[in-house]
Amino acid sequence: MASKVDSFVKIPTIKFTKLFINGEFVDSISGKTLETIDPRTGEVIARVAEGNKEDVDLAVKAARHAFDSGPWPRFPGSERARIMMKFADLIDQNVEELAALDTIDAGKLFSAGKAMDIPLVSSNLRYYAGAADKIHGEVLKMSRQFHAHTLREPIGVVGHIIPWNFPSTSFFMKVSPALAAGCTMVVKPAEQTPLSALYYAHLAKLAGIPNGVLNVVTGFGSTAGAAISSHMEVDAVSFTGSTEVGRKVMQAAATSNLKVVSLELGGKSPLIIFDDADVDLATQLALTGILHNKGEVCVASSRVYVQEGIYDELVKKLVEKTKAWIVGDPFDPKVQQGPQVDKKQFEKILSYIEHGKREGATLLTGGKSLELGGKGYYIEPTIFTDFKEEMLIAKDEIFGPVMALAKFKTIDEAIERANQSKYGLVAGIVTKDLNVANTVSRSIRAGTIWINCYFAFDNDLPFGGYKMSGFGSDFGLDALYKYLKVKSVVTPLYNTPW
Ligand code: NAD
Repeated sequence: MASKVDSFVKIPTIKFTKLFINGEFVDSISGKTLETIDPRTGEVIARVAEGNKEDVDLAVKAARHAFDSGPWPRFPGSERARIMMKFADLIDQNVEELAALDTIDAGKLFSAGKAMDIPLVSSNLRYYAGAADKIHGEVLKMSRQFHAHTLREPIGVVGHIIPWNFPSTSFFMKVSPALAAGCTMVVKPAEQTPLSALYYAHLAKLAGIPNGVLNVVTGFGSTAGAAISSHMEVDAVSFTGSTEVGRKVMQAAATSNLKVVSLELGGKSPLIIFDDADVDLATQLALTGILHNKGEVCVASSRVYVQEGIYDELVKKLVEKTKAWIVGDPFDPKVQQGPQVDKKQFEKILSYIEHGKREGATLLTGGKSLELGGKGYYIEPTIFTDFKEEMLIAKDEIFGPVMALAKFKTIDEAIERANQSKYGLVAGIVTKDLNVANTVSRSIRAGTIWINCYFAFDNDLPFGGYKMSGFGSDFGLDALYKYLKVKSVVTPLYNTPW
């Protein structure tokens, strides 16, 4: 179902388009800018400074200075917490504008940004602010006559390289724990979605985050991103993005200064629905699992396995609901799916759909782009069935509203097929049988298992991948520890002979 694009235009004034280095908005050294596009129309929203290696050098220098001699790592945790709380309050005061920036930049639903993404980032800052004054080591019981304790120290200057699909949450799932830990940092937002990151830099300054602690360099991956991952003065890099680029980041870290690397990468996540499932619940989870954020979600349930006893009933309901799903202007409160982020992503998804047709999967619904006023990057929610794991539509992360659906007979078959992927980010299980749920959740190689739910994220819940979905966690205290180093300190006890 399509909703016409025209009547909900609510474009905020773009206030911040320059790099944010050492507490100031500055032009790129080259003077170059890059275009950021409104995916609803394909038109340019703004030109943003295009940072490259020289700009990254300046940002890292500022972050290095702030780390080596500035107050942030030396503040008591409670002072960092106070400033982070203020930062969170400022975000809450600007929810609409921030949500609107992500809508025009990424095509995200404005209603979802306002109700979920932006409130989540302020709560994320508060969660880690609450941890900032609880960072401590341990006293160890040594086997020899020594006293030993550990200290947990901030890891240093961190580079955060983030993708475009959740511009705000990706920014804070990196920045909040690193701030709490006492690190200083350079963030490189995706070139498609730089606007909210620059706004957050402005709010960070208003909140009192000292100069040099949080720097934002907008620019392309192969220049600005690569300069961060290969920089000799960056102590750790936290990357979220594709597996292909994650590999490059790791290579750059290995051939530069062996910086610590954490990678949150792609996924091709299975949702397994058993015969005893509540069919309405299962249908809803399958539908939103793939269509939320127009399928541009690393944890999208892009492979759905349904047991044979309920297959026909579920498919009928799923197709009906998919056909009624409303695609259109993401500012329209009735709309459930906005445009894909840009032309490249739009064409990539359509080409996967063509592959699916050629490879012999059966197209149940969708399969085309949508002409909404002749503009924008809209795609029909699409379901293929009868797929095999060797097909491209089942192997590759499409990152769009395209589901591959299959029928299975036994638990063992479902487990085997679900594990047939190079990825291991999340999996979903729908069943009322506790034993089945527990058996399957232990057998699937994935970092998160959702039973009778999907997208159940929380600030407190560590999130990270298995296999080629990466390593290291975002969210939870695990993410805080990612930005801390453990130092061991040893002294001999009185009269210890040695
Ligand atoms: P991408 O890998 O193309 O880009 C991610 C970031 O890396 C961008 O900022 C980009 O500019 C930068 N980059 C590109 N080339 C680089 C290089 N050579 N060196 C350093 N940085 C470079 O990914 P994308 O298209 O922006 O995002 C989609 C991908 O992100 C999908 O694969 C998706 O699954 C993944 N993702 C994963 C998670 C997760 O938590 N696991 C969350 C969101 C998105």
